[in-house]
Parts: sequence; C-alpha cells; structure tokens
Amino acid sequence: MSSSVLSQLDASTQQIKLPLLGASQEELTAWVLSLGQPAYRGKQLHDWIYNKGVRSLNDISVFPKQWRSQVADISIGRSQEHLRSVATDGTIKYLLQLTDGQIVETVGIPSENRLTVCVSTQVGCPMACDFCATGKDGFKRNLERHEIIDQVLTVQEDFQRRVSNVVFMGMGEPLLNVENVLGAIHSLNKDVGIGQRNLTVSTVGIRSRIRQFASYNLQVTFAVSLHAPNQALREQLIPSARPYPIEDLIAECREYVEITGRRVSFEYVLLAGVNDLPEHAMELSKRLRGFQNHVNLIPYNPINEVDYQRPKSDRINAFVEILKQQHIAVSVRYSRGLEADAACGQLRVNQKVRS
Ligand code: SAH
Repeated sequence: MSSSVLSQLDASTQQIKLPLLGASQEELTAWVLSLGQPAYRGKQLHDWIYNKGVRSLNDISVFPKQWRSQVADISIGRSQEHLRSVATDGTIKYLLQLTDGQIVETVGIPSENRLTVCVSTQVGCPMACDFCATGKDGFKRNLERHEIIDQVLTVQEDFQRRVSNVVFMGMGEPLLNVENVLGAIHSLNKDVGIGQRNLTVSTVGIRSRIRQFASYNLQVTFAVSLHAPNQALREQLIPSARPYPIEDLIAECREYVEITGRRVSFEYVLLAGVNDLPEHAMELSKRLRGFQNHVNLIPYNPINEVDYQRPKSDRINAFVEILKQQHIAVSVRYSRGLEADAACGQLRVNQKVRS
C-alpha cells in the first residue's frame, strides 16, 4: 500500500466509526467518497454488509480489485462461531467469539411466522440475580454496537431467513450499556430492516434509567424484570435491587407509561414455593393496579448452581387465574430449546465446566 493511500485511509477512517458494522448507508457513502470511490459504492457496501453477510471488504466482488486490497484490513466487525447447540424444536444457541477472545451467547428461536433472536448486551452481567446463570460468572465488559448487531446477522445468515424479532434478553443488563444498545436498535431498525415494535428491551431496573429510556421516545417493547411483589422478596432474588426500592421502580414505570403512552411488560420468573403463592399473585396485582401493563410469567429454567424448582402447572395456572380476576393482563412464556441449554447463560456456563 502506498503511503499516500495510507494517509488518505487514516484521514477518512477518522470520520467513520470502526468497525463498519452499524454504519448507515449515508455514512458508508460519505466514507467511500472520501476514499475517491463513486457514491453508488456506498449503497453496494451497505448491501454487502447487511444483506450478503460479507466478512471482509476484500471479498466484495463488485468492487475494483485494487481498492479491495487497499481496504482489506478495515474491519467489518463480525464474530466467529465458537460453539452451537441445536434443540429438537429448532432453537439454536450459539457461542460467539469476539475479536478480543471473549465469548457471548445468542439464541435463534424459529417459529412458523417468526425468527426471534435473543441477544446479549454485555459479556457477563453485574446484576447477580440469584436464579440466573449469567450472573454467576461475573461481569467482563459492555458489548459494542457492532457486537450486538453481529448477533442478529449471524442468526439471520445461519437460518437463511429474515429475523423478525429481537429481544435484548441474553447476557447482560441493557440499561448499563445504553449508548451501544441505542446504536444497535437504530441500526437493526434502519439497516437490518426490523420494525422497532418487534424489538424488546428487558431490564432489571436501574434507578432513573427507565425515565431516561422513556425520553428517547422509541417504539420498542419495554420489559422490566420484577420477579417479586415486594421489596423483601425482590432483594432476596435480586441483591442488586437493594438500593432501589420496588415502590420507586414501579413509580418510574408509571412515568414511562405517561411519557411514552406505551405499556410496560413485567417479567416474573416463577420459583416454586418462593414467589408463586396465591398471596404473591394478590400482592402483585395490587402493586400493578392503575397503569397500562402486562405480566409475562416465566416458569423457572433450572440452572446448576442453585436449587430452585419450577412450579407445577396447577400452581402456574392458579397464579394466572388470580391475576386475571384482578384484571391484570397476563401471559405465560415457556422457554424454548431447554435441552440446548437455552436458559440464560447456561450453554456458556456448562461449556466452561466441560472444558
Ligand atoms: N438483565 C436483563 C435482561 C437479561 S435476562 C433483565 O434482567 O431483564 C432476561 C430474562 O430472563 C430476565 O427476566 C431474567 O430474570 C430471566 N431469567 C434469568 N435466568 C432465568 C432462569 N433460570 N429461568 C427463567 N428466567 C430466567
């Protein structure tokens, strides 16, 4: 590479955020123009990155050979598959290796009409929920914008089918990585073409971040992991909830509804004998009265480290009935791909035990 081309590259790469994944068509066009290429190359580049799954600029066959070799070292920002686990229901769980060697997990969940991807937002998680495998492993770092988008493209390319829905429910706490999560939402919407309403962000609740998230006025579905109807029990299950009383959390969720006009979805992992009793259902109903919301009950997926139990189905049904009688919108979400270790953090944890 001649030194003039190098200095040209240096100057132009300062104007685009590298790796390229996450860049808009406009940004890519400005970038190719700055490198002396015609504007239409920007559209081509966008198509190759987001639709054709190219992993190296050197592989874009429609680009002039000489230019390809000049920019071959500019990273697109794709991960490598480290391991996969396929369940009989078609769910595939991937462990993806990032450029610094860290591993994250991503799940592709197919159904007749949908292909849903469950993405991680951090390597590990600092929240340490007692029933969650990810928290047992501690926190490593936030994921970058491109590392979140990469997970969706990886599943899309592997299934050879458009991803219809993305849930930010893999490893990590999205509201502790707001900038990259917002960047990923924007790009998944504009560049990958997934409607905002088909994106769901799930948080355990971080003080004042729900209000902040509301101010972005997104169309995404917003979910809060509640898991208990009162502070004492919530603290037991989510030690990180200690400094953020449930009253304050719910007050902030009410504000979210007022600001956005959109409902909040509450996730509630059902743990037998711990938070699944009729009195818990009554207390939860009272707590959620008077604002637009929805409860998503998630029967616990057993993990190795703790011995909680999944409630029997009559217990689950009784809980549902009480919420319904109390006019709380409720659904039950059974996890897919259980034998593929699809419970949060499981594949990674089990893999570590094996290796
Ligand atoms: N940190 C975010 C998103 C990641 S977890 C959050 O807490 O919302 C996504 C959901 O899976 C959360 O509701 C979480 O509590 C739940 N979850 C974690 N471990 C689980 C398990 N073993 N069984 C069932 N649900 C679990």
